[in-house]
Amino acid sequence: MRKKLVAGNWKMHGSLAENKVLLEALVLELGQASTAGCIVCAPFPYLAQVQSVLSGSTLAWGAQNVSNHAKGAYTGEVSASMLLDFGCSYVIVGHSERRALYGEDDASVAAKFAAAQAAGLIPFLCVGETLEEREAGVTEAVIGRQLDAVLAVSGIEGIGRAVVAYEPVWAIGTGKTASPQQAQAVHAFIRAKLAVLDKNVAASLVIQYGGSVKAANAAELFAQPDIDGGLIGGASLVADEFIAICRAAQ
Ligand code: 13P
Repeated sequence: MRKKLVAGNWKMHGSLAENKVLLEALVLELGQASTAGCIVCAPFPYLAQVQSVLSGSTLAWGAQNVSNHAKGAYTGEVSASMLLDFGCSYVIVGHSERRALYGEDDASVAAKFAAAQAAGLIPFLCVGETLEEREAGVTEAVIGRQLDAVLAVSGIEGIGRAVVAYEPVWAIGTGKTASPQQAQAVHAFIRAKLAVLDKNVAASLVIQYGGSVKAANAAELFAQPDIDGGLIGGASLVADEFIAICRAAQ
């Protein structure tokens, strides 16, 4: 039985004051009972604050990006071991915003994925097609290519120690959620593709859905057989919404 995971991707939002209110609400409502895995991915400067508020609770935390290098003259970069210093268990790699806006290609995503795992972090590997790609009928080809780049470096064993997040680009921040059936079809494709390499890894892999998940649609999405929770953007900034989404995954 796979455990469902819900992760909040705060993106570039928050302040010390806003985070305090949000994190304390999460600890109060979710931080005691052992619920589905609930994770917060905060901007780098707030990781110390997240660590201090969430330590000792059942909530885990992570970052939204990581360098592919372990250390060195890489101005502005943050290494996986630095994230570990702040108690991170997870890091998002290959988010479509980083692919589209910061030139991250499949090879650099694969390198970041490997660097994260080498340090002991669990990557959330984001994959997903644009609207153009979906309309051109190449959704599976695109996601297959994104997975193959990581498989080439880290192998199926590496994927087995990660979480995959299917995030259709057209559903991110648009309010246009993939229907549960659309999402399920892609999740099943991902699992079937990986099952060819290793049945056990494919069966136990957590595959999250991301893209306009809200309290109102989470339960229906998470009820699909191959959807194991979600990666939540906008709704993860609103305590009541995020708490309800985490509960929908229980
Ligand atoms: P939204 O939930 O705001 O659509 O964002 C999804 C996302 O990009 C999570 O990584």
